[in-house]
Amino acid sequence: MRMQTKTSKLPTVTIVGRPNVGKSSLFNTLLRKRIAIVHEQCGVTRDRVAQPVSWDGYRYQLVDTGGLGVLSDEKNVDFMDDQIRTQLKVAVESSDIMIMLTDVKAGLTELDREVCDFLRKHDKPIVLAVNKCDNLDLEEEAQAFSALGFKHVHAISCNHKSNLDTLREEICSYFPPNEEDDEALPELRITLAGRPNVGKSSIANRLLGEERVIVSDIAGTTRDAVDIPFSFDDEGESKNGLLVDTAGVKKLRKIDNLVEKFSMMRTEDAIKRATVVLFVIDVSQGVTNGDKKIANTIKEEGKPCIVIANKWDLVKSEAPKQKFLDDLDHDLPFMRYCPIIFTSAVDGNGFRELLPASLRIFEQSLIDIPTALLNQVLHDMVLRTPPPSTGKGFFKVYYATMVKNPPAHFILFCNKKDYCQDHYKRFIEKTLRNAFGLSGIPIEIEYRERT
Ligand code: GDP
Repeated sequence: MRMQTKTSKLPTVTIVGRPNVGKSSLFNTLLRKRIAIVHEQCGVTRDRVAQPVSWDGYRYQLVDTGGLGVLSDEKNVDFMDDQIRTQLKVAVESSDIMIMLTDVKAGLTELDREVCDFLRKHDKPIVLAVNKCDNLDLEEEAQAFSALGFKHVHAISCNHKSNLDTLREEICSYFPPNEEDDEALPELRITLAGRPNVGKSSIANRLLGEERVIVSDIAGTTRDAVDIPFSFDDEGESKNGLLVDTAGVKKLRKIDNLVEKFSMMRTEDAIKRATVVLFVIDVSQGVTNGDKKIANTIKEEGKPCIVIANKWDLVKSEAPKQKFLDDLDHDLPFMRYCPIIFTSAVDGNGFRELLPASLRIFEQSLIDIPTALLNQVLHDMVLRTPPPSTGKGFFKVYYATMVKNPPAHFILFCNKKDYCQDHYKRFIEKTLRNAFGLSGIPIEIEYRERT
């Protein structure tokens, strides 16, 4: 099975509601998990506005308009003006199902009614949820929202995680189960890549020896097999994965003189087959030329990647840690997009995060960003931080689309490529990474001129 470059279209479910009703809380609650944060350099969760969600055989893409300019929680509005109307229209047009979120404590407001009337003009399913119903009395009070005329009023509490399953059921009742066909889904295939002796086989063994990891007993599967299927517990849910090329990891240590050459060939192949690469570096030795070669392959193959700074037990102090981070930044600048996990295969430090973080990055690498949403993010970006003049003229962004992922490849139509300075290009990349949670996923932005 090959990795798909782009997921088949997932239904897009958008959370809409006036400011401060709890849109971002609902977004995080429905995702049920956050990426295990590893190092602040990656900015993994902040400002994310869209992410794929799986629930009981259904998959959809969840969008939080609270993180966009649309009725953003930073605004304090009592009515819909033209700007809000336009932004809301974009959000609605790019979604298949809408969750209209309200707040029991504020009661049914005029703005809620306006938003609701607006949403109803589009012929799309709307699910009504009343948030902040933290106790039974408040759940009763939520019934006042039935005045809006919906069949179901979901009296939920994001803080207490109550009544969310009925909400999920209604969301998923509007499209057929789409997770049955496992064959169609790319799988979590993890490759441990790194120079000889950085600790790859120790990591593989420790990972597979973890209590919550079960090595599948498919016939012929042993710890020395090439690819080892396993399952693991991810916050109460069982998830499957495949550890790629573990035999290569072991055997090659023995062929001393040819080690580098063969291991590089084998590593390249294993990287190609991965859906997530764990790039292992020996933190006690710092970044070497061998590491640079491997990093290049990961980049060229456009693979989602986490940097594993192993043998942390030999270092364990701030100054060398900082030096390592600085070296990484300096020597492997294109790895800046990667989260970093400090591990020790000796004492197990960092191991709890390895699989959940791999899974998160893998899931995020399947994101298919709706064009309207992408453009909303870019539009907000330009409003907040306009491109500086180059002296020749002003850079103008017309619109952008995502063509594939991973690597996350965008085409951005603009007036003149030359008018965009490098730091603004980096800023555009950073904005997209933050908005769409693309930490660990290589990004390509192709600038095309339009007159
Ligand atoms: P590989 O060639 O990348 O698979 O590396 P190995 O897993 O065979 O490890 C090479 C050496 O490093 C072995 O002696 C391991 O015991 C040691 N090693 C691996 N991980 C760690 C670690 O986290 N801390 C320390 N102190 N030693 C480690």
